[in-house]
Amino acid sequence: MKETLHREVVIVGSGPAGLTAAIYAARAELHPLVIHGPQPGGQLTITTEVENYPGFAEGIQGPELMQQFEEQAKRFGTEFLVTYVNKVDLSSRPFTVWTEEGHEIKAETLIVASGASAKWLGIPGEAPAPQGLGGLGVSACATCDGFFFKGKPLVVVGGGDTAMEEATFLTRYASRVTVVHRRDQLRASKIMQDKAFKNPKIDFIWNADVREITGTPETGVTGVRLYDNRTGEETDFACEGVFIAIGHKPNTDVFKGWLDMDEVGYIKTAGLSMATNIPGVFACGDAQDSFYRQAVTAAGTGCMAAIDAERYLDSLPVAMAGGEEVTIEGERVSADHESVTMPDGEVVSNRPASESEEASVGGD
Ligand code: NDP
Repeated sequence: MKETLHREVVIVGSGPAGLTAAIYAARAELHPLVIHGPQPGGQLTITTEVENYPGFAEGIQGPELMQQFEEQAKRFGTEFLVTYVNKVDLSSRPFTVWTEEGHEIKAETLIVASGASAKWLGIPGEAPAPQGLGGLGVSACATCDGFFFKGKPLVVVGGGDTAMEEATFLTRYASRVTVVHRRDQLRASKIMQDKAFKNPKIDFIWNADVREITGTPETGVTGVRLYDNRTGEETDFACEGVFIAIGHKPNTDVFKGWLDMDEVGYIKTAGLSMATNIPGVFACGDAQDSFYRQAVTAAGTGCMAAIDAERYLDSLPVAMAGGEEVTIEGERVSADHESVTMPDGEVVSNRPASESEEASVGGD
């Protein structure tokens, strides 16, 4: 085992939800520990321009925005671990979180902000090489891989905002981008649809399922086999790259069996709070939100989760100087448990009487 750590707030994930939770928890002097996950900074780090994050009138690049989040979290003392969680035990507090790097982390509260990852079609030719052509022309990230397709004809699969964004971005490099969608209507927002429809390098194939990605390790991708779901006809369509953009799946497998989830794997939270079925465990961002899934809503729920965690910690019975455990409604216990702010604002020392007297004598 590498290291054993014990923290009041442990945050799993470093996208907008996790880092906003970190900013709030750090400013509340809870010294949060963020475990990055396999995609540090989350999905925004593999996107280009973000035009709808409030506060950036001219837009901002996704990676730059996440850099700002991280700097802000660090400024207030957030600690980071570059690894990912591979096992948890949430049977009692402190919860235990194990990482791929061999850390064992005890968490008084846990905030799950593990986000979501791109979904795949599950068709022949799609798997990573050598099983399939993944990395040899098949990708789920235009920003990461678009550069490699200069002057080549590409296919983008999907009809949502991600597909429109990927297709539009890829026209910077590709000779032509063909969007293949399984219906005759897009799911994407009006503005993103308009942008794609107006782009002379993008065209559409409707009512088509991609059944196979064809090619060899030597040639890379050479085409897709399309199935027209109205006529039943199968055709081959030539292209040199395929970008799968059919949505995302929450990264919550490691919490299965502990946290209540819906059938897709989104963590259920209670009422207006970010509380899960386990007291002291909170969930936010794309791991919990199947509906809005925006950077700004993720950040909002991250803030809520941190406030929930802070209030949860404050509401726990605190061992007072005399040894007894008390909970006082409306009181605010400092993170080190050494002082208690009463509901009327009076700050009372929670250090043993002898120590408090020494401190006050020393201070005069
Ligand atoms: P969505 O779930 O919105 O869209 C997924 C698309 O993929 C749909 O068109 C769906 O088809 C299609 N699809 C799903 N499964 C399959 C399959 N097995 N075979 C073929 N096609 C399939 O996901 P997105 O990732 O596009 O968007 C998620 C959220 O993120 C949305 O709220 C979106 O607005 C937001 N977003 C915002 C962006 C921005 O504002 N810049 C950029 C990207 C995303 P069907 O329509 O038939 O269901």
